[in-house]
Amino acid sequence: MKGFAMLTIGQTGWITKDMPKCGPNDAICKPIALAPCTSDVHTVWAGAIGDRHNMILGHEAVGEVVEVGNLVKDFKPGDKVLVSAITPDWNSLEAQEGYAMHSGGMLSGWKFSNFKDGVFAEYFHVNDADGNLAHLPEGMSLEAACMVSDMVPTGFHGVELADVQFGDNVVVIGIGPVGLMAVAAAAIRGAANIYAVGSRKNCADLAREFGATDIINYKEGDIVEQVLDKTHGKGVDRIVVAGGDNDTFDQAVRMLKPGGKIGNVNYLGEGDYLKVPRIEWGCGMGHKQIVGGLMPGGRLRSEKLARLVMTHRIHPEKLITHTFHGLENVEPALMLMKDKPRDLIKPIVLIQG
Ligand code: NDP
Ligand code: ZN
Repeated sequence: MKGFAMLTIGQTGWITKDMPKCGPNDAICKPIALAPCTSDVHTVWAGAIGDRHNMILGHEAVGEVVEVGNLVKDFKPGDKVLVSAITPDWNSLEAQEGYAMHSGGMLSGWKFSNFKDGVFAEYFHVNDADGNLAHLPEGMSLEAACMVSDMVPTGFHGVELADVQFGDNVVVIGIGPVGLMAVAAAAIRGAANIYAVGSRKNCADLAREFGATDIINYKEGDIVEQVLDKTHGKGVDRIVVAGGDNDTFDQAVRMLKPGGKIGNVNYLGEGDYLKVPRIEWGCGMGHKQIVGGLMPGGRLRSEKLARLVMTHRIHPEKLITHTFHGLENVEPALMLMKDKPRDLIKPIVLIQG
């Protein structure tokens, strides 16, 4: 089969590999929709997960099952499925502790295009099919379904980590596709004011549509000052970090109220340490919590988030700004993600069955 791969850091290309083998609990799928991710860009061009040779890229997909192992109960060839970007081992001790995304070691629930070949191929392998696939709901668009793979669950996880409660004032730093879904999640959780930080107009417009009350442009002045201005110097209850860099942490602590929580889902790609401002962290006694997490993944989460789509509570299909057709076009779609033109939020590649 052919797949689009990371050849080494900084290089991509088409390669040919044997079909993946299906274990007793596994499934083999072919993609019917694919999306490149900012994480694929980090993987190839920032060397985020270290060097990988001839590893097929991609972790966001909607698929059709072509083969299942003899212990798989709920899926059969021909089924159309939502595929979670994170595919934990559900019988692991980490899963029993509530951290399935770290099953097998820190971040090891992230298998596609990390520890094994990803989904940008004619066929891909899904471990623990009953635990990691979900049936594609009748009538769900491929655009929305593909966003349920990673963008929706990650944005929502930022809000879970920040533990947003009704009436909270919330800052969402970064309103690319992940942050935009965090805005939507904060609104569903009952946030009051939602301050969305970004600089691009189309993202700002969609953030407002998804529930942001204010847009804060980080290119037009210090975001801490802007947030403190809007909150009469008090700061906010909760912050989701879905963009920015290491300094964004420092900024988040400064604009957070005592007792507040920061949920980070942003990938931090540089430096050995993060700084926490001592005074603003209450000299260690400010009850300001910082939590960062890989999104949990798995079937139940996909099914629940799909329910939110089907009941029209969220509209992740609106993230799609560029549509390609055919597997061969994952290459230009990924390059678009790398170049990030200002009108891009998220591309998708649709593949005929
Ligand atoms: P994008 O690059 O599309 O969006 C990043 C956002 O951050 C944009 O709104 C951008 O603003 C904003 N931004 C950039 N620099 C700053 C800054 N200095 N201060 C404040 N805001 C800034 O990324 P995605 O939405 O695709 O992904 C977000 C992050 O989530 C990535 O790091 C990705 O790797 C990570 N991720 C994490 C996962 C997890 O499980 N934890 C899963 C998937 C992704 P603008 O462009 O408008 O100028
Ligand atoms: Zn992704």
